[in-house]
Amino acid sequence: MREFEKPKILISRCIEHKACRYDGSKIKSDFVKKLKKHVDFITVCPEMQIGLPVPRESLRLVEHKDSIKFVFSKSGEDKTKDMLDFSNEFLNKTKEKENLHGIILKGRSPSCGIKDVKVYKTHGKAMALPKKERGLFGKAAIDIFENTPIEDEGRLTNYNIREHFLTRIYALADFSKIKKKKTFKSLVKFHSDNKYLLMSYSQTNLKTLGKLVANHEKKKIKEVLDEYEIYLNKALKTRANSARNMNMLLHLMGYFSKELNKDEKAFFLDTLQDYRNKKAPLSVPLNIIYSWVKRFDEPYLKTQTIFNPYPKELLDIMDSGKTV
Ligand code: SF4
Repeated sequence: MREFEKPKILISRCIEHKACRYDGSKIKSDFVKKLKKHVDFITVCPEMQIGLPVPRESLRLVEHKDSIKFVFSKSGEDKTKDMLDFSNEFLNKTKEKENLHGIILKGRSPSCGIKDVKVYKTHGKAMALPKKERGLFGKAAIDIFENTPIEDEGRLTNYNIREHFLTRIYALADFSKIKKKKTFKSLVKFHSDNKYLLMSYSQTNLKTLGKLVANHEKKKIKEVLDEYEIYLNKALKTRANSARNMNMLLHLMGYFSKELNKDEKAFFLDTLQDYRNKKAPLSVPLNIIYSWVKRFDEPYLKTQTIFNPYPKELLDIMDSGKTV
């Protein structure tokens, strides 16, 4: 059984934590509620941090010459500098102090939003412009934490986006432990256990990571870990796709080619076609292979994280259909 490291996640405080929105409300999220037991949350409410009370007048983004201002919706009082100063200071300090594995922000907020935030011509009665922006804190988070998975709670209702986010935060939390251990042995084990997971994301980065672990140049562990982290981030940022997953599944099947009979192989290949034609989720062919891992007691595959990328309790096939 895989023992999961608890990822450290920064989250907008109004999501399932505190009723700190401008109107005194809290955002409900079944996913975040479930996640509470499995991650360590650090909460932040940027609007409260710049000294605003609850409840308060709402704020909005307005176009100002070539830039965007962050102002109170009715009075127009400008809070751009306060929010930018806080965001940069808080996020840079957090980056220095904490090893964050993920960030979840409130969608479409002029402070926390990471995309699709409305922009207005002016304060007061005014229509939203056709353009969309990032909130000030959300934009700073993306700039400062360029390698950290960042999502908003709305996007996480999409099955694929949620799956990718969870897979990344648990892989990165595991890697943090390896960085602390600073031994080649633990790095080799990490790389070996994640081989097929990485293959499903990027064969090219998997090869580069393999060369780093082989360390023919006899580099020091610190240097190898730093370089490994760069390519690990690159690999995990890539979205998994069905062609790469099919390739990974066929590699896994190869372990059992001698043990399986003709009918079993044909059934599996049929299932692969169903997966390719979007008639079955990835978990169907993966579970068939995992049943072979158990049946034939294949030791190398037993610890592959592809079969167990995050705690089972977080698996939820609910999909809002919201796209990227
Ligand atoms: S969206 Fe951000 S700034 Fe607004 S209430 Fe939530 S945490 Fe605070």
